[in-house]
Formats: sequence, C-alpha cells, structure tokens
Amino acid sequence: MAEQVVILGATGSIGTSTLDVIRHLDGRFRAAAVTAHTSWEKLADIALEFNPDIAVIGDEQFEQPLKDKLSHTSIEVVSGSSGLTRASCYEKGDIFITGIAGGIGLQATVNAVRTGKRVGVANKEPFVMAGRLISEIVQETGCEIIPVDSEHSAIFQCLLGEESREVNKVYITGSGGPFRTWPIEKLSQATKKDALNHPTWDMGPKVTVDSATMMNKALELLEARWLFSLSPSQIDVIIHPQSIIHSMVEFCDGSIKAQMGNPDMTLPIQYALTYPERTSSCREYVDFLKVGSLTFEQPDPDKYPALRIGREMLHKKGDRWGTIINSANEVAVDLFLNEKISFTEITQLIEKAVAEFASEEDCTFEEIIALDNKVRSFLKKEYICDN
Ligand code: MG
Repeated sequence: MAEQVVILGATGSIGTSTLDVIRHLDGRFRAAAVTAHTSWEKLADIALEFNPDIAVIGDEQFEQPLKDKLSHTSIEVVSGSSGLTRASCYEKGDIFITGIAGGIGLQATVNAVRTGKRVGVANKEPFVMAGRLISEIVQETGCEIIPVDSEHSAIFQCLLGEESREVNKVYITGSGGPFRTWPIEKLSQATKKDALNHPTWDMGPKVTVDSATMMNKALELLEARWLFSLSPSQIDVIIHPQSIIHSMVEFCDGSIKAQMGNPDMTLPIQYALTYPERTSSCREYVDFLKVGSLTFEQPDPDKYPALRIGREMLHKKGDRWGTIINSANEVAVDLFLNEKISFTEITQLIEKAVAEFASEEDCTFEEIIALDNKVRSFLKKEYICDN
C-alpha cells in the first residue's frame, strides 16, 4: 500500500517539488493531506489531481470557494489554524513534509514531530526558533527526522555509518547569492528584482532574499546545531558558487565526505521519502564536464553582515537568539519585498532587534511565541518612526 504523505505547504516551492516526486514514483506514495496559506485555486488543482483525504486552506475567506470547487469529491475541506492542526496531526499520515516558509510553521512542525512518525524538515525556521524544545519532543516520541534543506540532507547523508565522536567539522556550503560579485558600495541600491535573481537555485521569494543576504546560511547554522547536536565551533560556512556540493563533513582523520548533486530540491525531498532506499530521479544527473570546476571562497563579513550575526548568535546561550533574528529577518524581508526598505536595511533592522531583546535565557514555547510577536511589533514601530 502507498505510504501516506502529508504536505504542509503544498503550493509553495517545496510542496510543488514534493508533488513532482510523488508523481514520478507513481503509486509508491500518496498525498494524503495538502495545505496552503492563500493559494486556494492552486490547492484545488492539486486536490483534483491527487485526491487527498484532506485539503486545508489557511485563510478562512477561501474555504467556501475551495469547498465549491471540490464539492463533487469526498475530500474534506478545512480552514484556519484548526485546519492546519488537522493536517499536521493527521493520524493516517506516515510522512510529514514541512514545506511552510517561515516561523509561521512552528506549531505545524511541533504537531508533526509529536506524531512520532517520519518528518521531512524543509521548514527550517521552527528549528531556528525552538530547536532545543523540538529536539526534546523528538527524543520523547521517537520521531524520525530526515532533513530536506539541501545542506542538511547532505550532512545527514555524509554522517550515515559514521560515529559522531569522529566528526571534526561540518562545512555548510552556500552559493553566495546574486550579489557575490557585486561591490559592497552598490548593495544599498540592489532592487527586489536583483535580489530575486538567484544564480543557481529556483526557490520561493523569502528564501531567495535570505540567500542574497546570506541570512539563509545564518539560519542554517542554527538549524544544523539542533539537527545534528553539533557544537558551534564544529560548524562553518563556505561559499561554493556552483552549488554542486551541498555540504561536507570532515572527520578526525582528515578525511572529508561531500554530498553532491544538481541544485534541485527534488533530490533531498525524494531521499527523505524513500530513505534508506535510493531510487531513480525524474531530473537531470550531474555532468561534471559541463560543471567544469568546483570553487570555494571565504564569505566576506562586510558584504554579508547577516552571516556574521548568525555566527555570533550560534555561540550565545539560551533559546531567544534564534527567534529574535528569525522574526526580525521575516519582518525586514517582507518590508524589502514590498519595496519599503533598501537591501542593506534588512540587516540593520535585525541588529536593532538583537540590541533591543538580547538576553541569555531559555524559553518555553509560549515564551517563544510571545517573543516573536514582540519582535515583530517593535520593528514595525521602528519602521514607522523612521519613515
Ligand atoms: Mg538550504
């Protein structure tokens, strides 16, 4: 019988690629529940093609139009946060893919982990915000976490069959984004269009802007720490513009394992579904002669201040740092995508939030959610005062 897959965020970049994999591995997996935030028409098309048990639309105003579109089917249509809870706790789900973008996916990730089933983690922000607390639930429930974020999938694959005590260091690779070759002086004039023009990966707008600031790598440092129980000094970021090596692990004897593949999210998604098995891909395989060379650079801290902030946070105690930088970044990226602030102001806003909320305490989930709200309203006020 097909394995039942719950896709949280089915209309986004991760969801679309997950559905490509399910289509490709015809019959082996089934989309049992699909969710979307506002794209109800796209969700209706997905539901009509994949015939899930449940379709969830986050924005309640679209519940009725979605119900009308699916009225001739037996698909259960639910909306709002109770709908998202219904999908993220779905008792018939065997594998949960967390493809929601941003901290808004926190509760859904926690619910999925509480099921004790397999969770393919693409939504990194919940781990950045509440990695310690989620790791505790993983321990309690025996949930099987398989990373889908390409770098973390690479680290996971490199660590298979290895002893964690023999790991020296993990190198998280990043392309350097669209501004890698830009002079620093020009960055304040970078437009939304420039920032969304990623050289190697095709992803959603939020993560593409994060890739341009390299905040994406800052978040991935925090994510890696919790996913693999690494100490801060064991994790490093290196720029690799070709995006063929997705990350590397160095062992105590100096041997290094790298996981490679084309920059295509179907690869880590398919692996999270079929693990420990591997099966044929629906996409192109790497042609090294076409790639030509694999190069590496040290990220320039002046060009990527967001990465510097991330490194600093990684070394600090307490649970609050991840939420502060993540929530601040989400507000700032949103303002940038709405053309309200310049590209370089993204990190300036994050620094303001860090200065305002810094303290080295551990938090409960409730405190994390309260802190998230406080950071958001603080920055919105700051933005209004400055403008
Ligand atoms: Mg990544």
